[in-house]
Amino acid sequence: MDEPVLKSSGHCTTCDKDVEFVAYNTWLRDNFFCSNCGSIPRQRALMYVIETYLPNWRNLIIHESSPGTGGASQRLANECSHYYPSQYLPGYESGAMIEGVQCENLEELSFPDRSIDLHVTQDVLEHIFHPSKVFSEIARTLKNGGMHICTVPLVNKNKPSKLRARIVNNEIEYIEPPVYHGNPIGDGRSLVTVDWGFDVCQHIFEASGLFSQIIYIDDISKGIRAECIEVLITFKGLRKEQKNEIP
Ligand SMILES: [Zn+2]
Repeated sequence: MDEPVLKSSGHCTTCDKDVEFVAYNTWLRDNFFCSNCGSIPRQRALMYVIETYLPNWRNLIIHESSPGTGGASQRLANECSHYYPSQYLPGYESGAMIEGVQCENLEELSFPDRSIDLHVTQDVLEHIFHPSKVFSEIARTLKNGGMHICTVPLVNKNKPSKLRARIVNNEIEYIEPPVYHGNPIGDGRSLVTVDWGFDVCQHIFEASGLFSQIIYIDDISKGIRAECIEVLITFKGLRKEQKNEIP
């Protein structure tokens, strides 16, 4: 086998073990694996942010839309007693249980107002058609002090976010040539609808009135190193312990 392009030992935040991290491809975002759990950097970054901002996550009500197999989703499922995963299943209403899978459309969640402590999404927001509806539904269903913690590739960085596709008269209209990401369900691919930039925080605020932070972590001791692994946190009010003392 070829020599790895990057190899280091450290502590994996998704399996909570001392491990080796290794990559055989320079695109670390999808290829810098934990030797124990197989997680990738964005999953480890997300779990680290959850641990840091919500250290009592095991006792919280957590909803994750479209969880991945393994990685942070597995850790949340294993250790949080109120973890509710859901999938978007076109043609079914939010709240429906289809073969043991809860269906939730992020644009129209079935959860009551102020019922969720933490919404988690991993690389989902770049595939939604009505971002404002999603941000407003997340805000509606979060408890006070709740958060939405997510990964989303902010590929446009300091350039404005740009719509790639939209729905017009029930048909997809392509504004840019179609780009797809892999999807564990359905036909195996998801259309990218938005190229997000750092101004995603402004879009979230305009749609929901909630503030967000973009957190970028580069910490090789946790195997968190790659392009486009910012973690976005949206806060519904601040918990007391999060108040910043800077006057
Ligand atoms: Zn691991």
